[in-house]
Amino acid sequence: MNYPSLNIDLKKLEHNTRLLVDKCSAKNISVAAVSKVLCAIPELVQALIDGGATYVADSRIENLKRIKHLNIPKMLLRIPMLTQVEDVVEYADISLNSEYTVIKALSDAAIKKGKVHDIILMVDLGDLREGVWLDDAVEFVGQIIDVKGINQKGIGTNLTCYGAVIPKVDNLTKLISIATEIENKYNIKLDIISGGNSSSIYLVNNNTIPKGINNLRFGESIVLGNETAYGARIEGSGNDCFTLSAEIVELKEKPSIPIGEIGVDAFGTKPVFEDRGIRKRAIVAVGKQDVKVDGLTPIDDKLIILGASSDHMIIDVTDSENAYKVGDIMDFLLDYGALLALSTSGYVNKKIK
Ligand SMILES: *Cc1c(COP(=O)(O)O)cnc(C)c1O
Repeated sequence: MNYPSLNIDLKKLEHNTRLLVDKCSAKNISVAAVSKVLCAIPELVQALIDGGATYVADSRIENLKRIKHLNIPKMLLRIPMLTQVEDVVEYADISLNSEYTVIKALSDAAIKKGKVHDIILMVDLGDLREGVWLDDAVEFVGQIIDVKGINQKGIGTNLTCYGAVIPKVDNLTKLISIATEIENKYNIKLDIISGGNSSSIYLVNNNTIPKGINNLRFGESIVLGNETAYGARIEGSGNDCFTLSAEIVELKEKPSIPIGEIGVDAFGTKPVFEDRGIRKRAIVAVGKQDVKVDGLTPIDDKLIILGASSDHMIIDVTDSENAYKVGDIMDFLLDYGALLALSTSGYVNKKIK
């Protein structure tokens, strides 16, 4: 199986990681490199480690299991399932948490294995995904402070995920003051104050990240070089660590408007067409079963993606200077959704270089 292929450039991935690690270490911020979109393929995770990441973080315990042999502390990002606590204390050194019952179950599992499991308490600063509500965080720590088998390693927050709330000096300063309150009230030291994901990198770049934030968790900014608060490119980063290659299986001139009464397409939507006359169209052997088609950008910028069904993507090649023929390979840049779909699809060959 050769195509479609997800092409992965380890040197570029390492470069992007190093770029962010260097920016952050200048501000005493450690980087948890997020491997969830890479399915934690060990060679890829090794590139994150070679790039200087302090932690590898993933949302799936199955992925952390796959890299258990790699020598780096591993962080579970998604709040653990009660049914998975045994695996969590086995394969994750640290997990992000927000529920007393889960923390208690992690504690029981850790004690049974003779371990102490580190937890980061997630604080919801308003994005409305995971976390203890900000006003309740200090009191919550009081419930778990004496729970054996777990160690309150730090606190953290996640922004720009559900509510699209942008990290700012004011909300991150609030996180730091919650940490200080916890430290003073319970007389403990929090090692980690984790100030978010790729949407926080702009605060590092413009030197306004509040002092006290000492960890960030980066996925998209590493794998695609995107700053995700405002959607800018990170200067010096590559956007082509990952590309898609797919093969042309048909190439014909056809009208741009279908012939006959228009019903609904294979996905139940009524398509609209622009009449551009007779056009040369390629069918490429990749489809919605493999990729998020609107997340693809052809590297040949004269190509127009017209649409796709499950297994066929249709591309207008009329304006291209390349003389495409059946069997030729087309290459595409990816957005996060396209990369996520490709990397998790069993139909897509992973070509690592
Ligand atoms: C996915 C995830 C991240 C990484 O997000 P990016 O926007 O890709 O940097 C960080 N933290 C948590 C909790 C996540 O689930």
